[in-house]
Amino acid sequence: MNACLFCKIVKKEIPAKVVFESDDILAFYDVNPQAPVHILLIPKRHRENLLALQKNEDHLFLDEMVTAVKQIVRDRNIDVKGFRLVANTGPDGGQTVSHLHFHLLGGRSMTWPPG
Ligand code: 5GP
Ligand code: ZN
Repeated sequence: MNACLFCKIVKKEIPAKVVFESDDILAFYDVNPQAPVHILLIPKRHRENLLALQKNEDHLFLDEMVTAVKQIVRDRNIDVKGFRLVANTGPDGGQTVSHLHFHLLGGRSMTWPPG
């Protein structure tokens, strides 16, 4: 867990462009953006992915995360035209950092299906 990249970002051991912070969650710009707006939202406490969440206790931060997403997209004027929220999970899901994160992508028209 100590070697976890996103835990290091939470502890400010690695710099990140933070856009939103609360007691439980952190949102910051992706270092390798795939869209004009590409922000990662993470729980501050390490959890590997969605499957590692325990009902009730762990689900509370998801409510906060939805509130953060709404604020972030409104602030950046991508609420009306739309955006994409993605949680790559596990090897087949394309997850490369084993700390739960949601990609918030916007500012351009997205295609479907994803690669
Ligand atoms: P995944 O591939 O696990 O769904 O997403 C991991 C994301 O973390 C990638 O989009 C990648 O660009 C981003 N990332 C990797 N290392 C860093 C870093 O040091 N800082 C920031 N801000 N993003 C990172
Ligand atoms: Zn972590």
